[in-house]
Amino acid sequence: MPRVTIIVLGGTITMVPQASGGIAPSVSGDDLVAAVPALVDVAAIDVVTPFLVPGASLSFAQMATVADMVTAAGQNGADGVVVVQGTDTIDETSFLLELACDTGADSAAIVVTGAMRGATAPGADGHANLLAAVTVAAAPQARGLGVLVVLNDEVHAARFAQKMDTGLPSAFGAPGLGLIGTVTEEAFRLRLIPTTLAFPALSLADAVPVAIVQTGLGDDGRLIDTIADACFQGAVIAAMGAGHVPASIVPKLEALAGKMPVVLSTRVPGGAVFTASYGFPGSEIDLIRRGLIPSGILPPHKARLLLACLLGAGFTTEEIQTQFQAFS
Ligand code: ASP
Repeated sequence: MPRVTIIVLGGTITMVPQASGGIAPSVSGDDLVAAVPALVDVAAIDVVTPFLVPGASLSFAQMATVADMVTAAGQNGADGVVVVQGTDTIDETSFLLELACDTGADSAAIVVTGAMRGATAPGADGHANLLAAVTVAAAPQARGLGVLVVLNDEVHAARFAQKMDTGLPSAFGAPGLGLIGTVTEEAFRLRLIPTTLAFPALSLADAVPVAIVQTGLGDDGRLIDTIADACFQGAVIAAMGAGHVPASIVPKLEALAGKMPVVLSTRVPGGAVFTASYGFPGSEIDLIRRGLIPSGILPPHKARLLLACLLGAGFTTEEIQTQFQAFS
């Protein structure tokens, strides 16, 4: 029988109606596991509940603790680890765990799941998602794939997974790429193997403040002027299209890139930032020449996490450029 450790952090999957109105985290990991008897047919389960918080309130410090717990579970013989949490940040936390934890073929599989409907809602998806996540985590073929996100019987690679809908049980997608597998008839069916990244393990506890600024039509870039004064140590620009900004804000971005690493990402959900196609003022070629670092396929929120961890680990701007190239 495979061994799977479940680490419950909260989220809608643990939420029930409150006397004060609305739903909030309440169900412990023990109660969650007890509510899904079929788990015992899939794996020998250990469950812990270090926090019960909404996904949006998870911190770098808490995720550093979770990364340590994931690593310890693997060292103690778990075949897989399932992190259960709020879906609002699953696309961020799963990526952070990929940056911090060993996901080689000899390590425990790491899976993150949650639910889109509260624990007592009609058609609540939490129990099915937990069972599917444990099924994947217990499967030998889940090892060595990087961190996986499992909801709605769909299996995504953390690097590419994004929350694409605020309410649907099928909220997660990987724009332009799709699923790497499914859970079908109670088994993990792996269809595609994601590329592996040779990446130094990063400490999440050392992450530093990094700003995201999204630009748009008619933006005069005044927010960019505030970033250095607010003591951010890096910035991510959510540009338009393949990495384009209004020509009028280019001098502000160039000045900022002289003070701190500035990553060029895009507000478009799918596709990589370009590096060598457009030559107008405010284009990706122009901005990269002025010192901005293209984010590759990382959307702004994942680029922010990577930059925060790299800066926290003391990487230089040149080294940061090299690390981002892995995502080109
Ligand atoms: N809507 C969120 C969820 O699905 C709430 C949260 O992230 O805690 O879990």
